[in-house]
Amino acid sequence: METLQIKTPSHCCAIDVTDRVGGALKEKSAQNGLCLIYVPHTTAAVIVNEGADRDVMEDVLEALDRLVPWKGGYKHVEANSAAHIKAILAGAGAQLVVDSGHLVLGTWQRIFLLEFDGPRTRKIFVQFVGDRGPSGP
Ligand code: ZN
Repeated sequence: METLQIKTPSHCCAIDVTDRVGGALKEKSAQNGLCLIYVPHTTAAVIVNEGADRDVMEDVLEALDRLVPWKGGYKHVEANSAAHIKAILAGAGAQLVVDSGHLVLGTWQRIFLLEFDGPRTRKIFVQFVGDRGPSGP
C-alpha cells in the first residue's frame, strides 16, 4: 500500500490527486486490476468527478455549504460537525479499474481529495490489487 501525503491549503477545497495516484501505481508496476483509494479521516473525502472545468468543484463545495451550514446547532464539542457530515455525504473512498498500467477514467473525470476542515496534512491510502509488471514488488 502507498500512502500519499496531501497538504490542503484552505478550510474547504478540492485537490486533484489523479496524477499522484497514477504515480503510486507506476511505482508499484501496477498493470491490470483494481485501485482502491481511501482517505483515513473523518472530515475529508475522496471522490471521482469532473476535473475539466474547475468551477464544478467550486459549485460542489458551495452546494455542500448550503446543504450543511458550518453553524447548525450541532452537539459535537469540536464544533466541526458540518465537516463530518459533508465527509459522510461525499464518501471516504473510490475504486477504479487499472488497465495496462493506467487508471480507467471517463474523459472528464479526475480523482479529488475534498477537504472540509483544513488546512491540514491529509493521508490517502492507495492499494493496488491485480497483476504487476515484471519489475513489480
Ligand atoms: Zn470533529
